[in-house]
Amino acid sequence: MHRRGPMRRMRVRAVKMLEERARARMTEVNKRFDVLIAGGSFVGLTQAIALAQCARGALRVAVADRTPLEAARARASDGRASALSAASTHLFRSLGVWARVEPHAQPITGIDITDSKLNSVMRPQLLHFDGGLPDGEPAAFILENYILRDALIDHARETQGLTFLAPEVVREFQVSGTGVSVQLEKAGAVDAALLVAADGRGSAVRKAAGIKTIGWSYPQAGIVATLKLEKPHGGRAIQHFLPSGPFAMLPLPENRVSLVWTEERARARELVALDDAGFLAEAKKRIGGRFGELALAGPRGVFPLDMHLARRFVADRVALVGDAAHGVHPLAGQGLNIGLRDVAALTEIVVDAARLGLDPGSAAVLERYQRWRRFDSAFSALAMDRINSLFSNDSAPLRALRSLGLGLVDRAPMVKRFFVREAAGLTGAVPKLLRGEAI
Ligand SMILES: Cc1cc2nc3c(=O)[nH]c(=O)nc-3n(C[C@H](O)[C@H](O)[C@H](O)COP(=O)(O)OP(=O)(O)OC[C@H]3O[C@@H](n4cnc5c(N)ncnc54)[C@H](O)[C@@H]3O)c2cc1C
Repeated sequence: MHRRGPMRRMRVRAVKMLEERARARMTEVNKRFDVLIAGGSFVGLTQAIALAQCARGALRVAVADRTPLEAARARASDGRASALSAASTHLFRSLGVWARVEPHAQPITGIDITDSKLNSVMRPQLLHFDGGLPDGEPAAFILENYILRDALIDHARETQGLTFLAPEVVREFQVSGTGVSVQLEKAGAVDAALLVAADGRGSAVRKAAGIKTIGWSYPQAGIVATLKLEKPHGGRAIQHFLPSGPFAMLPLPENRVSLVWTEERARARELVALDDAGFLAEAKKRIGGRFGELALAGPRGVFPLDMHLARRFVADRVALVGDAAHGVHPLAGQGLNIGLRDVAALTEIVVDAARLGLDPGSAAVLERYQRWRRFDSAFSALAMDRINSLFSNDSAPLRALRSLGLGLVDRAPMVKRFFVREAAGLTGAVPKLLRGEAI
């Protein structure tokens, strides 16, 4: 047996003591942050990375998510992909995240929109957009959600000045004149100047802050699935408006497509429960024969759809971002893009305040954020809602009106250019990070 001498025992005790002191100091430091973010999914992690990087050490930032990291990574099983606008990709480029995902992102080369009936032999396109922005940059990319999530987790863990707590549940909080004391399930009470709610549509922070929402559930659900096509998709996205709701085919690398297929809720559950051959046969009825044979290339899922909008985006020392603030119909693939616009706006405002030595959770800072983001989000949510009701029906007068309206747009290059810039997220008061500018 190995015997330890007294000198060695003393050295071991001294090292242990130093380690304990260092741990205690760390815990002390980690009990006080400038910004604490509740929810570390797409929006929360991007918010945390953006604040920590743009403030260059001037802000202590923490993000807490209740999901253990291994489980967050394993969520590849949700099978979803997102359309990321050019503006969102500028944000990810500025933060250094884009290089991690770019090889897996499919640029959209065009969009074809139709509302033809499933039994028509010809499927005329009402509207089509080719190419992207005038400088050739694609207006949007399609990226599978699990690839973005993994990249954000890796990037957050490597970002200096950022503490990532997972699994950690944000329980409740109390606001005082100088800050907010947040109760975390494991770490206990933590102080911050600002609490950012990025905890999704059921946001506990939003509820605890006493912020009510307006909105409604759609009678529809969104089926998502990934298919492999026999014939090339050429990078084009297809939006087929059917009476039950929009059926979107979003191009992915390796000649795959991500389907976002809206149906009445009970019918959606029936379709997802079909065996592979039955599901593919239903998909083929909607896609037609032009892409040849179809094969399943990933899991299927079904998501209930709703529209919600927080009545206020801020409360005392609290700011809402992402789905905690708003949820929109996925027909134009804008939900996450709108959330990333919140992130870019809040980062710009908070970093500006920190540079001037101002309190990042002060009422003036929060009011500036709310003025910037609330109207824009409400406008997007209502626009998606109107488009869904205009297209999700089989009324003959509405069908005629749609054909006329979209036909006119198709013949008006200026209007089309505006829509492309809108899809690229480059209209309105665009925050610097979304324009690709440093802050
Ligand atoms: C079918 C479908 C298709 C879509 N397609 C697109 C698209 O193409 N493009 C697009 O831009 N958007 C799309 N969206 C919308 C997009 O998916 C959402 O807007 C986006 O996921 C919202 O991200 P988030 O980070 O705000 O919220 P979530 O992703 O909901 O994340 C919330 C996080 O908070 C954590 N959390 C919750 N409570 C607590 C707590 N108390 N303590 C700690 N952590 C907590 C959760 O674990 C979770 O990780 C689509 C949505 C659907 C349903």
